[in-house]
Amino acid sequence: MTTKGVNQQAGPPSEMEHIKDRSNFLRGTLVESFEERLTASIPDDDGKLLKFHGSYMQDDRDIRNERKRQKLEPVYAFMIRVRLAGGVATPDQWLTMDNLANTYGNGTLKLTTRQTFQLHGILKWNMKKTIQEMDQALMDTIAACGDVNRNVMSTANPYQSDIHAEVYEVSKQISDHLLPKTRAYHEIWLDEEKVLESSKVESEPMYGPLYLPRKFKIGVAIPPSNDVDIYSQDLGFIAIIEDGKLQGFNVTAGGGMGMTHGDTDTYPQLARVIGFCPVDKVSEVAEKIITIQRDFGNRSERKNARFKYTIDRHGLPWLKEELNERLGWDLEEARPFHFEHNGDRYGWLENDGKWHLTLFIENGRVKDTEEYPLMTGLREIAKVHTGDFRLTPSQNLIISNVSRKNKKKIDELVQQYGLTDGKENSALRRNSIACVALPTCGLAMAEAERYLPSLISKIEDILDENGLRDEEIVIRMSGCPNSCSRPALGEIAFIGKAPGKYNMYLGAGFAGDRLNKMYKENIGEEEILETLKPIFSHYAKERNEKEHFGDFVVRTGYVAEVTSGLNFHT
Ligand code: SF4
Repeated sequence: MTTKGVNQQAGPPSEMEHIKDRSNFLRGTLVESFEERLTASIPDDDGKLLKFHGSYMQDDRDIRNERKRQKLEPVYAFMIRVRLAGGVATPDQWLTMDNLANTYGNGTLKLTTRQTFQLHGILKWNMKKTIQEMDQALMDTIAACGDVNRNVMSTANPYQSDIHAEVYEVSKQISDHLLPKTRAYHEIWLDEEKVLESSKVESEPMYGPLYLPRKFKIGVAIPPSNDVDIYSQDLGFIAIIEDGKLQGFNVTAGGGMGMTHGDTDTYPQLARVIGFCPVDKVSEVAEKIITIQRDFGNRSERKNARFKYTIDRHGLPWLKEELNERLGWDLEEARPFHFEHNGDRYGWLENDGKWHLTLFIENGRVKDTEEYPLMTGLREIAKVHTGDFRLTPSQNLIISNVSRKNKKKIDELVQQYGLTDGKENSALRRNSIACVALPTCGLAMAEAERYLPSLISKIEDILDENGLRDEEIVIRMSGCPNSCSRPALGEIAFIGKAPGKYNMYLGAGFAGDRLNKMYKENIGEEEILETLKPIFSHYAKERNEKEHFGDFVVRTGYVAEVTSGLNFHT
């Protein structure tokens, strides 16, 4: 193994490295902190370790100032994120999550952009019960956040059910293979007997005691769908299907969306294809890539610690050489593939005698309102459904593998509760995603999920004026440049800058294969609408046949083409 550069640091290790080092394989003082009843919060160091257990401490920012005025501590509560490879859940698991959301959470479920469930509003004293009930339904939250491999994504759209099943198994294998080995989670949350009294008897053969320098994201795509936004992933696998059979995967590396406003050393980046590997080698490739990032990632500056920066510092040829050396064999030449889009296809679809219904869940928020009893409707479906649920990367939901016999029953429930595949909406709304942002996310600089729907309503008026209601345009909003909704891959995107203010980006590729570029900085709603009006009008009049909006704004010069994150700011 090449060792030059191993543990190479740009400076002294960041504080987070020390916290991991002291944590005794992610234990810290989490047990004591969660037993402490004098405060609803936990100490900062434990809060950082808690991420590795799939949870963040948050507080209700809507009432933060008022609480402060009253000299009360903020209303602390916890977000819990499930690890759900490929976004596949059984009806029982759905019912468990629904029950937990209503018993311990804020009565809603968030379907995330990485195909999993998030619960919000869990009080400290209910954390253990919540995780234990998930465990009974065969779900866990291990490594759903933190400096480890996160939830492995996998194409949700069941174009080819057999291939989907095979690829889903691969994503599950990767997810299991890359799990941390520490028993900390089982001891802390599931009361498993302590396996050790000293860290010496436990080890993390792949991660090591410091885990990764930063979070790590993996996706598996089945062309022509790029719903997982493969180019946004640290590591990606693109299924290569020849003669109707899965032959293996093209490997991609070095994607990532996050950046810091005003810091040009940080940027979103597209992953690049580095070769092809057979199906049975996928976990091995993933493991070796993880060890490369473990050894060469920047442990000094967290904002430059993602794998994309490691690759951009050392170069792609270096990565390939390092990988081949660690594998002991070479990746093959990448094979041809073609992506058509990165969104969902809605409504019923039949495949091999099984039916799949993709429902539109605006921004992934499952809740009941007087007008729209979405949560109840899905609960009733889960009670009779015998297939599975698939959470999509665009925050929607597929009621999947419905038998012909059951389809009528599910259709009746869909009618009864008015559940929608979104076809009554503009194509823009159906191609929209937003992160959580306010009031729970501590990093949010502006609204996202609570604001995007109303902004889209106003944009829809402009679309209608120009006959563009059914034009598929991908729009994304994130409350801060951490970019959880992958905004750099939106044909139109907004990243929060301050309350009510956003940087506006245009020009990503419809298939998620080109980054967008900043068009206007720090603008509010009025300026957003005024900016879009003439561009939509121009697009309606002068677009080429089948030309997507992102391609149009690049061709007509509104923004320059961005083919690499290295040109994102230039
Ligand atoms: Fe929070 Fe920022 Fe992620 Fe939105 S993008 S959920 S505001 S961290």
